[in-house]
Amino acid sequence: MKITRITTTPLLVPYKKPYHWAKGIIRGAGVVLVEVHTDDGLVGIGECVATPSAPAIEAYLNVAGDICIGRSPFENTRLMGECYHALFQALGTCSAPRYSGQVLAGLEMALWDVMGKATGRAVHELLGGAVRDEIHYFGFPQGATAQEVADEAREMAAAGCDVIYFKVGRGDALDLEIARLVRAAVGPDKRLRMDPNESWSPVRAARMLRKMSEFDIDMVEQPTNAESIAALAQVRDRSPIAIAADQLVFTPQDAYDVCREKAADMITLGLHETGGIARFRKVAHIAEAAGIDICLHGLYETGITTTAANQVGATLPNLDDGNQYMNHLLEWDIVKSPDLRLQEGRLPILRGPGLGIELDADALARAAEGHIKEVEKNG
Ligand SMILES: [Mg+2]
Repeated sequence: MKITRITTTPLLVPYKKPYHWAKGIIRGAGVVLVEVHTDDGLVGIGECVATPSAPAIEAYLNVAGDICIGRSPFENTRLMGECYHALFQALGTCSAPRYSGQVLAGLEMALWDVMGKATGRAVHELLGGAVRDEIHYFGFPQGATAQEVADEAREMAAAGCDVIYFKVGRGDALDLEIARLVRAAVGPDKRLRMDPNESWSPVRAARMLRKMSEFDIDMVEQPTNAESIAALAQVRDRSPIAIAADQLVFTPQDAYDVCREKAADMITLGLHETGGIARFRKVAHIAEAAGIDICLHGLYETGITTTAANQVGATLPNLDDGNQYMNHLLEWDIVKSPDLRLQEGRLPILRGPGLGIELDADALARAAEGHIKEVEKNG
């Protein structure tokens, strides 16, 4: 089986409501759909997040695609190495192990999808098999105000989510109000986690974590600048609350450094950081050796990434039970089946061949149109 063609399609799926986090407001999932076509008529699908823009990602993928054409998708690891070399090493830059993950993730997951379709096996089976039957996700309430966040948190807790996770770093007073109202809304038994997205200095983090302790917070994710392991280690050393590394860890080397420095109690990790499924597992195994759990990380993505993360998460003994889920933010998804809505805060491990999903042609057309309209609007 040979790869004959790789196509890329920019998509924009709008969010139901604006997504508030420490760095601003996001109104939809902008992605680039990657389709790997083979000479026996199979099509593997994946997606890249379109950051900083869809044309930027497509330019890299065009170069990567030329490397893959004529080759077997079962050379995935070797192909990814060659793509990284061509895109980021051959001309002497050698400086983008992290950004390369974002660029190549969609292509890597599409290769896994086509390998699964060719063999009639789910991706998790190709990886050695599932060690669980379902994955637990946290409830991720949104809102412009603390009350709106708390109202959604109440609904999610009632729907069966054991962990409620919310964004902070929006200003100390608002952050504390969100935590207070969410705790009041969900009661004493749910675990609360929060993410300031690097907004706090070590001193500010120490102050906020002391104040937040009143609300029985289970974990705080990447409170300090992600370029400094020392800052996170300093916060963790004094913190009454467990600390997760998020943007600190993209590569296996990052994971090793965080574990060696004892900078985090947990690592939050996404496919768009690791460059897809194979390197995700490398990072997870390093964390496992250090006795640290991995949480699935979400970005501005569609159900394609949700299912790819579900496939790799199925295989990890050290997967946490508070994983990030982003589909509820989408006004509609481009995945037609299976139904990716959470049941009691969970999704089963997907069993179909490859990633185990079928895309919705009408939704794809709407999302492609949404991207074009956005480009026209922004000139
Ligand atoms: Mg985070």
